[in-house]
Amino acid sequence: MTLAGRRLAVIHTGGTIASRPDPGGPGLTPQQAPAVPGLPGVTVTAHQPFRLPSPHVTPEHMLRLARLIERLAPDADGIVVTHGTDTLEETAFFLHLALATDTPVLLTGSMRHAEEVSWDGPGNLLDAAHVALHPDSRGRGPLVVFGGDLFDARTVTKVHTSAVDAFGGYPGPIGRIDRTGETAHLRFFARPEARPVYAPARLGARVEILYAYAGWQGEGYEGAAARADGLVIAALGTGNLPAELLPLVAASAGAGQPVVIATRTHAGPILPVYGYPGGGATLVAAGAIPASFLNAHKARLLLLLLLSLGHGLEEIRGVFGAGEF
Ligand code: ASP
Repeated sequence: MTLAGRRLAVIHTGGTIASRPDPGGPGLTPQQAPAVPGLPGVTVTAHQPFRLPSPHVTPEHMLRLARLIERLAPDADGIVVTHGTDTLEETAFFLHLALATDTPVLLTGSMRHAEEVSWDGPGNLLDAAHVALHPDSRGRGPLVVFGGDLFDARTVTKVHTSAVDAFGGYPGPIGRIDRTGETAHLRFFARPEARPVYAPARLGARVEILYAYAGWQGEGYEGAAARADGLVIAALGTGNLPAELLPLVAASAGAGQPVVIATRTHAGPILPVYGYPGGGATLVAAGAIPASFLNAHKARLLLLLLLSLGHGLEEIRGVFGAGEF
């Protein structure tokens, strides 16, 4: 397929893909956006709304990015976003929830910086460009491409701190791109489910995450509940907690504060199975909201958007319950 005449918008946001070792500092810092490697006949425009290591990216940056993509989409055949890998899955999921466009949006990054022999940035960027410009990519929502694998923004997660194949997630890639010379071979295996769009004008809520562990007696819970509009707990297994948490969760839910139960396990749903105090069935009976298959940091973003749209406890329960994300 010839790419000549197509229009690609590339949005650089920072991360290792744009980083160099800082001569005056202790490590890597985002300095220079990488150029898109050869794409004959393609008109490429570059944009840089911010240049940050991704641990500095906030939901407000994600909202700015969503607005920029909405502005660029009508005049682009495809959009690529380069991003630090540490929070890439959060930005991808935020865009998945907040963007309405059919224009392909591909997020990628790199695990090695430009001065390493095995810099993976140019290859990932070229893969992302090819997928973004391919007609089969339209209408699938934002996707992540890394090491040739294509992931649904809803399920993708960073699975390794240093390996080049750093992304995965249950149930795995939904497509694959390989290149031979100038030819790209793209295959999709699945189409992400349609979902509603949640696009508040501004983010007006505070959502905090608590992480469960053996022996947790609820330390930190009351402070977080007092500060936040909603809570997400990375709970145990199918969504269980120590007994001490049951009255705390019940008090929040009784006061109308959403408490979403996700799992710290790496895959699988939240299920109301166990009836011992703090077991998943007792938490749900007390008013907690199961996060379905979302990990805690993605559940947090969904809850943040729903609260920012003014949704109440029962509407939020409905969205998570029906899997409308
Ligand atoms: N710490 C970097 C970041 O997320 C890691 C990376 O980009 O791979 O900005």
